Amino acid sequence: MQEKGTISVNTENIFPIIKKFLYSDHEIFLRELVSNAVDACQKIKRLAALGEYGGELGDLKVKVSLNPEAKTITISDNGIGMTAEEIKKYINQVAFSGASEFLEKYKDKVERKEIIGNFGLGFYSAFMVSKQVQIVTLSHQENAEAALWTCDGSTEFSIESTVKQARGTDIVLHIAEDSEEFLDKYRLSSILTKYAKFLPITVELEDEVINETEPIWTKSPNDLKDEDYLNFYKNLYPMAEDPLFWIHLNVDYPFNLTGVLYFPKIKSNLELYKEKIQLYSRQVFITDEVKDIVPEFLMLLHGVIDSPDIPLNVSRSFLQADSNVKKINGYITKKVAEKLNELFKENRTEFEKKWESLGLFVKYGFVSDDKFYEKAVAFTLLQNLDNKHFTLDEYREHIQALQTDKDNKAVFLYTSDVDKQNTYIQSAKKKGYDVLKLDDRLIDSHFISALESKLPNTQLKRVDADTVDKLIDSGIKAESVLSEAESTRIKDLFEKILDNKTLTITVESLPQDEMPVVITLPEFMRRMRDMAMNGGMASFMANMPPQLNLAINGNHALTQKILQADEATQIQLIRQSYDLALLSQNMLGGENLTKFIERSVSLL
Ligand code: ADP
Repeated sequence: MQEKGTISVNTENIFPIIKKFLYSDHEIFLRELVSNAVDACQKIKRLAALGEYGGELGDLKVKVSLNPEAKTITISDNGIGMTAEEIKKYINQVAFSGASEFLEKYKDKVERKEIIGNFGLGFYSAFMVSKQVQIVTLSHQENAEAALWTCDGSTEFSIESTVKQARGTDIVLHIAEDSEEFLDKYRLSSILTKYAKFLPITVELEDEVINETEPIWTKSPNDLKDEDYLNFYKNLYPMAEDPLFWIHLNVDYPFNLTGVLYFPKIKSNLELYKEKIQLYSRQVFITDEVKDIVPEFLMLLHGVIDSPDIPLNVSRSFLQADSNVKKINGYITKKVAEKLNELFKENRTEFEKKWESLGLFVKYGFVSDDKFYEKAVAFTLLQNLDNKHFTLDEYREHIQALQTDKDNKAVFLYTSDVDKQNTYIQSAKKKGYDVLKLDDRLIDSHFISALESKLPNTQLKRVDADTVDKLIDSGIKAESVLSEAESTRIKDLFEKILDNKTLTITVESLPQDEMPVVITLPEFMRRMRDMAMNGGMASFMANMPPQLNLAINGNHALTQKILQADEATQIQLIRQSYDLALLSQNMLGGENLTKFIERSVSLL
């Protein structure tokens, strides 16, 4: 006997709307139907385990098959099955009311694309690609009668009894003309590989197994070897180099979360490394856009997170406010910090070796996440030019004697470019100062600011921020060989001959073997400049001449020579020494460089 009915929904023509809604993501129909089939298998397994099902379980499996002639795709399972009553209850009512709710909620939303893919439309999504859907199903219940449900995508459906030998459900999709792209084995295979790769019940496409039912994150870390983690990584990212190390996440309270996060070897372009974490919910792939679930600074990690507690059917703004998501965020941060700390403590040499890559994550977290910072102070390393690594405390200790200024502030000297700042580095070294290497363009300027704001009584200065005597202001004035009158005279000479308003000229008592003239860009000025550049004011700043300091080394023999020379020689010597100073700052170019070369030749 065939029964006809009308699906009770308040929105007429619901399918065209859904179809339109999900336009960009039609492929998820397969994820939804295969997930349902997997669920059905797991349900029967559970019933058997509880002793509520006495029949043979058999080899539980989901099969996807394709019939290009008939233009059908069939998703079959030998799971729990449904009675006609259950179809009416679960498919007609529950599913349809769910969909109208969905439409109600999101019909005006602009962020459609964000909802799509996160929203489990369930069985419904079948109609995105089908002109007709049939359910052929035999319930596991004793003496159950097989049922056939047919619906053509309108609100009309029919249900009748049919013949089916084996327990379980076949969902037969009669593919619509505009969706025939899915009648292609490779297409189906790639969709299944994306969404079903780690489902817990075997999924086959035309007898080919798609998935690994027990991916490593579902196992206990004690049962896994390094090799397993590395193989899994290769499996996820076939093109990537081996990761530095990994963290196996496993919580069940106050929320459920498992996963493995890998620290990749970061080489160059950060963007290449972002958005590589995959989010699963009970082994069903959901998305690789995990922006709000993983703390920002860990976006560079790779791997898998699986949590049934992350709400999948809501928009992003909701996700950010969700308390579970916040907890998950906090938990991941804590776990990562603990793991890093453990690595540092257990094998510092190894940790130092990895610092080059690791430092980026740590500094990023140090700068942007207070909770992480609290833990990270213990293992954040500074590397000096001798390639020695220090913790923050160790470093302070290391430089204390020579690099404490008159206000009792520790002055950390650093270089952002070993080659370009070489002259200044050599000067600092001659003084016995230590110089840190903070030359990572992506993170170090932020890291420097964070160090200063977080470490008490500490100042960071780039090695070329001042003349070497002033880098660390001891308060003691060095002896000058110049008389006061001579000092004034040499200063006036420089001002007159260079005639450059952007220069602040001073006479200093530097060691005799230092440069005769030193150009510096004060630390705070440079930071302002960097900030403006990063803030998109680059062209404006580039057109503005930098306010430079020019220090004349009063103790250098050249100073005396200039004072005693005739006017023509004075001009030559002053221009030459100024250009030399610019040259050592990499600031001499164009016409000035040509003139400098000509002058040098004539001097020779
Ligand atoms: P959800 O899976 O989110 O509950 P669906 O619309 O996908 O929503 O499915 C509705 C219900 O239909 C399921 O909860 C389940 O009870 C039933 N169902 C769907 N597919 C199957 C299947 N292959 N075997 C058994 N029951 C199914």
